[in-house]
Amino acid sequence: MPEFDTALIWLRRDLRLDDHAAFYHALKASRAVVPVFIFDTDILEALTERADRRVEFIRESLAALKRELETHGSSLVVRHGSARQLMPQLAAEFNADAVFCNRDYEPAAITRDAAVAAALAQAGRVLRDYKDQVIFEQDEILTQAGTPFGVFTPYKNAWLKKLTPFYLTPYPVTRYLNRLARLPPQPLPALADIGFRRTNLDALGIHTGSAGGQALFENFVERMANYKLARDFPAVKGPSYLSVHLRFGTVSIRRLAFSAHGMGGAGAETWLAELIWRELYQQLLWHHPYLAVGRAYKPQFDALDWPNPPGHFAAWCEARTGYPLIDAAMRQLNQTGTMHNRLRMVAASFLTKDLHVDWRLGERYFAEKLIDFDLAANNGGWQWAASTGCDAQPWFRIFNPVTQSEKFDAEGKFIKRYLPELAAVPAKYVHAPWQLPSEFQHAYGVTIGKDYPAPLVDHAAARAVTLALYKRAGGNEE
Ligand code: FAD
Repeated sequence: MPEFDTALIWLRRDLRLDDHAAFYHALKASRAVVPVFIFDTDILEALTERADRRVEFIRESLAALKRELETHGSSLVVRHGSARQLMPQLAAEFNADAVFCNRDYEPAAITRDAAVAAALAQAGRVLRDYKDQVIFEQDEILTQAGTPFGVFTPYKNAWLKKLTPFYLTPYPVTRYLNRLARLPPQPLPALADIGFRRTNLDALGIHTGSAGGQALFENFVERMANYKLARDFPAVKGPSYLSVHLRFGTVSIRRLAFSAHGMGGAGAETWLAELIWRELYQQLLWHHPYLAVGRAYKPQFDALDWPNPPGHFAAWCEARTGYPLIDAAMRQLNQTGTMHNRLRMVAASFLTKDLHVDWRLGERYFAEKLIDFDLAANNGGWQWAASTGCDAQPWFRIFNPVTQSEKFDAEGKFIKRYLPELAAVPAKYVHAPWQLPSEFQHAYGVTIGKDYPAPLVDHAAARAVTLALYKRAGGNEE
């Protein structure tokens, strides 16, 4: 006997139907389940660009999900407005006894959900939330002392020790699909209806929805064994490119972790470790919500006195630093909304430790541009690179942007893809083109300082300034 007559399933960062915790629980507990998505103006109004790939990704993924629901005689109710106000209204409109959703660990989402739960409760309705986007959440993985982990390897070991097949078992949603509410096809707003424009998502070949996530994963499974060797080279098809699908829940984390765990071997183990990093950062944010308001995980580094020299931040954003690997990475970000992981580490290190710009500015820029932007992972990544974070790069270890380039893009293939002005420069010079003798610059079609910028800073001198900055803030070389 179902517990509820009618329930809403409120979709947020979980835009799929298969292996979905809240869908499963809603369908099991209710006679009729109405799927709902809200384009939340509390989030959308804060976006700086009206052409935003994420909004388009969501809209296209919703279109696919709606089609899928319609094949089951139901549909997707999509609204535009403040979720805090609209969710209680929708529950009343459908006379729903309950609203089901999957948990989100970001402080703003937690506050929103608490407000919605309180408004629903006033009308005698309940909000039920579930773990879905991670294998382990909140307090499930703690140290023996009962505190959250702040170092990756022991966290990973505890994570793997706790893992049993139970945690990887998919939710059998399909078994209960006859409990979806019968609905006529619902209207789906166009991007223009919610104040946005189309982007180059299509041209970039980014496939949306569960089908897009599934296709990418199938392709990656073939390459997973090689992940450990290939993942660091931006010109090589090494990683999975699944981050946007993990961000919006168009793939199930259980399915991915199940495959990686089952496959075994160095490639799969390394990839599974990346999925565990993702969870470490999510649980860190949940345990330490102060991370969301710009505070350093290591509080001593809140005292770092960032020089923020005029022009440095703009040059970095606009790919004009004169360091080809950094500039190519920033062009990749600006043109595609993505950036290879190795390049995120090097570009973030360069902004903070070569250009002496506060990591929070870089974090915000990535948050605006990345299609896979995720508060926990982005904050974790920036604090790792700036050495202010959990299990971060030690502050006295500073990436050399030229040797990183020589090591990870030896032939300059990635650089030349995004910096065509350096296309004719031989590999020997492409990592530090200012070293090109002037008589050769003409021959290679690039005059440094005119066609391509001279380096904004000298790495060795910048490094010395950084070491002094961190020392002043109390960094010790333990
Ligand atoms: P793969 O290498 O195939 O990894 C599989 C998945 O594991 C990724 O999709 C991602 O979900 C997770 N993952 C991998 N590396 C990390 C990591 N270091 N931390 C947390 N999760 C990880 N990732 C985001 O998803 N969103 C962000 O906003 C984000 N910002 C970052 C900012 C900086 C400064 C740095 C250094 C890293 C950031 N990352 C972020 C992590 C990582 O760069 C991306 O997850 C990865 O490049 C996405 O490509 P992929 O899907 O091919 O990854």
